Amino acid sequence: MSLQTLQKPKAAYPELKDKIAVVTGAGSGIGRAAALALAAQGAKIGLLDLKDSRTEQVKAEIESLQTEAIMADVDVSDPERLREAIEKVGKQWGKIDIVFANAGINGVQTPIEDMKPEDWDHTLSTNLKGTFLTVKYAIPYMKNEGGSIIVTSSINGNRVFSNFGMAAYSTSKAGQVAFAKMAALELARYKIRVNAICPGSIQTHISESTHPTPELNKIKIPVQYPQGSQPLEHGPGQPEQVGDLIAFLASNASSHISGTEMYIDGVESLL
Ligand code: NAD
Repeated sequence: MSLQTLQKPKAAYPELKDKIAVVTGAGSGIGRAAALALAAQGAKIGLLDLKDSRTEQVKAEIESLQTEAIMADVDVSDPERLREAIEKVGKQWGKIDIVFANAGINGVQTPIEDMKPEDWDHTLSTNLKGTFLTVKYAIPYMKNEGGSIIVTSSINGNRVFSNFGMAAYSTSKAGQVAFAKMAALELARYKIRVNAICPGSIQTHISESTHPTPELNKIKIPVQYPQGSQPLEHGPGQPEQVGDLIAFLASNASSHISGTEMYIDGVESLL
């Protein structure tokens, strides 16, 4: 079957119109695509990211879709800045329906014995603590009406363990899935669903936060796929494909799905 046959028309989720979403890491890659996918359904978006002109562009793109966006300069590992940003969104529109806890970094890639404790902390604080803080501060604004929380994890730490030097990253990504499951059970009483997504390689700007060290050569075991490592599409996924999944997980079409991880990797993690 050709890929064209596999591609379906874009879904419409009219219930997302005027829903309020918070997206972290919204200025680039998966966060940007998710923000645009939700805005295309009529949702209003709080764009949270480190200060960057890219987030301003996303805001302008969303406004051209006839909906609204606000921006906040946030480091997701900083509780006070994150609390203030989420409060800004909650106060602007009165509630929050959708949270996409997505901001993340690959961080320093190095053998465990060479990993500086501060580099470990930076990756874990951004990816894992940032997810906890995003969810924590959104709950008060979601509790009354319920909603959907989606966490960006990864195939790394869940199905893939052969990306050498990524012990900190993979640990953070495994932790996010455990956290999403704990949160799903705890927040079910408020009709808040919580799911994690596990992307494979997606074409974004993630390389900007990837810092391999020369010491990596000490631990690498060659892993080779002579026919390529991406069996479905023979290349990385596009952020827009992940954006479509976020719209689905935010919508009523996924109303009975909570506490699960969903792989979006063109089957690469099963090879
Ligand atoms: P990206 O670099 O294009 O986007 C990440 C965004 O997060 C950037 O805008 C960046 O400024 C922001 N960010 C980073 N640190 C932050 C912080 N402390 N506070 C606030 N914002 C911060 O990369 P992406 O690929 O879109 O990454 C999004 C998520 O997807 C990450 O959690 C990443 O681990 C995950 N992921 C990516 C891939 C991939 O192949 N691209 C695969 C699996 C998982």
